[in-house]
Amino acid sequence: MARHAPWIEELLGFLLMRLDEAGFERLVAHEPRTMPAPYIETAGGRAEQRALRFTGCTSCSRIPPHSLHSAEEWPCRAVRAMALPFADDTGYCEAWRPEYTRSASGDFLRT
Ligand SMILES: [Zn+2]
Repeated sequence: MARHAPWIEELLGFLLMRLDEAGFERLVAHEPRTMPAPYIETAGGRAEQRALRFTGCTSCSRIPPHSLHSAEEWPCRAVRAMALPFADDTGYCEAWRPEYTRSASGDFLRT
């Protein structure tokens, strides 16, 4: 996997030490990737398309046009669910819990 920001590497490292081979293959399917999230900027009476770069999941972050709020930011719910069985381990971060899944716009996603 490519190198990522420290907070991403931390969760990847945590999982890689604990997942079995099947789990590792599932994790690869949910690899973090920097991607553009298009949105419409309407400030000042204009309406122009812009793109915000965010870290998404190669499987989960489907971005329908104009709906930035629904694109899952990495870690996606699937990756968070993989980490959850190890929640009592040293090094587990409470912010990895599935209920804290965010969208590309920074909002929490309702499950
Ligand atoms: Zn995913």
